[in-house]
Amino acid sequence: MSLNTQGRPTAIENVDTSGQVGGAALLPDEPLLFEIGGPDHSGVDLDDIEIDDAFLGGQKRETPLDLPGLTEPEAMRHYVRLSRLNYSIDAGLYPLGSCTMKHNPRLNEKAARLPGFADIHPLQPVSTVQGALELMGELAHWLMVLTNTNAVALSPKAGAHGELCGMMAIHAAHRANGQDHRDVVLVPESAHGTNPATAAFLGYKVKPIPAAGDGTVRAADVEAALGPDVAAIMLTNPNTVGLFEPEIRKIADAVHAAGAYFYCDGANFNAIMGVVRPGDLGIDAMHINLHKTFSTPHGGGGPGAGPVVLSEALAPFAPVPFVRKTDEGFELVEHGEGSESFGRMTAFHGQMGMYVRALTYMLSHGGDGLRQAAKDAVLNANYIKARIKDRFSMPFGSQHCMHEVLCDDSFLNGTGVTTLDFAKAMIDEGYHPMTMYFPLVVHGAMLIEPTESESLPSLDAFADALIRLADAAKEGDAERFTNAPQTAPRARLDETAAARKPVLKWTRSSDA
Ligand SMILES: *Cc1c(COP(=O)(O)O)cnc(C)c1O
Repeated sequence: MSLNTQGRPTAIENVDTSGQVGGAALLPDEPLLFEIGGPDHSGVDLDDIEIDDAFLGGQKRETPLDLPGLTEPEAMRHYVRLSRLNYSIDAGLYPLGSCTMKHNPRLNEKAARLPGFADIHPLQPVSTVQGALELMGELAHWLMVLTNTNAVALSPKAGAHGELCGMMAIHAAHRANGQDHRDVVLVPESAHGTNPATAAFLGYKVKPIPAAGDGTVRAADVEAALGPDVAAIMLTNPNTVGLFEPEIRKIADAVHAAGAYFYCDGANFNAIMGVVRPGDLGIDAMHINLHKTFSTPHGGGGPGAGPVVLSEALAPFAPVPFVRKTDEGFELVEHGEGSESFGRMTAFHGQMGMYVRALTYMLSHGGDGLRQAAKDAVLNANYIKARIKDRFSMPFGSQHCMHEVLCDDSFLNGTGVTTLDFAKAMIDEGYHPMTMYFPLVVHGAMLIEPTESESLPSLDAFADALIRLADAAKEGDAERFTNAPQTAPRARLDETAAARKPVLKWTRSSDA
């Protein structure tokens, strides 16, 4: 057996000659294609071709093209092995709080692959894509019904992009009303980082609103911060500590009375869809992460979709394009003729595949099914909370939570184990860690969102693992945590260096 650079056994040598693979053999340290392949391997059998030098104007290569040839099984195994290194919602429970990693029904995939949706081009004449436009119109309709709002911009490609869209609509509305001087946006301290980033990106000053002792925002604190310079508030509901904002109506009224708009971060809509319509709470703009609430796949950077619903006050400023039904069929309004549209968010119309998946999810559930999904998401989170509450510390634990459970790290005091260590040890238990160190308002946060997709046995197995780990930490087995993970091909990466100094170019070691 040999050891890899992390000091753990490398996998390949661990393959038992009986052909049984197990343990570390399932954690191959997969080499790069360049390291596997070579100029003498190939998956195809091509005749040599004669190239006319004159035709290439003297630009013919002198040296062979240094691409790795691979046989078909080599290529196949490489990608299948890589795919096994991915933890995914299809492999197990994925408790990332605020991310709503729920099951994506295969029916969604089947619908998204229909050629009339999958194989169309954004520049096709609209007469040839009437079905796709109808689908977009239908999705827009149901998003407005679920939120009781007046317009929806489908094109934003993620939640953060939707925030930008909503805030641009707010900016356009203030300009149209001669309120250009408003340059402050109120953002509660527990907000997702994209909220202040969006406001700052548009040139607004960000004024933080503290949370009350119970983790929610007080209308009085908002009122105290409001003034003629405030353009908007960006408030998340349910909020990032997993609680419904009880004073949201009062906050909306105060914001409107002060001439500002109410941007709601709707990333947590999964907890209330079909139960509460945000329009009834007084919101003016809200993004909906289709890739969270409506089950379309996400992770690894996308694709996502973050449609933004808009109130009557902001509807005229909605971006183009949008779908309009006429007597002749569906048309795509590209230029916002005669409207006060602020322009466009993307070159084309957004993520068609996500629209198909989201509408498939909606229609296959029906209104009652969506409501049930939201209620089950809340029930499942409260079940986890009840199962682990004696071992973990929950800063706002005296209340029922919505769709996610927030713990801080005080239960680990004196154990020598940090939130990061705890998360790494979860990998050895077979689970993707929960969201860590977010929200920032509690120390060493652990945010757990099981979603409605998990069965009771699955929730119990997960709670058992959490309890096992909490007990091990308290019994003094710190090494189990500080040495974790033992069962992953890579252990503790320098994530900052990986993000700041990514190694994107492969160099043959003989050239290095
Ligand atoms: C996920 C999330 C966002 C951002 O959504 P993306 O699609 O990742 O850009 C914003 N706010 C909250 C509360 C979220 O959970």
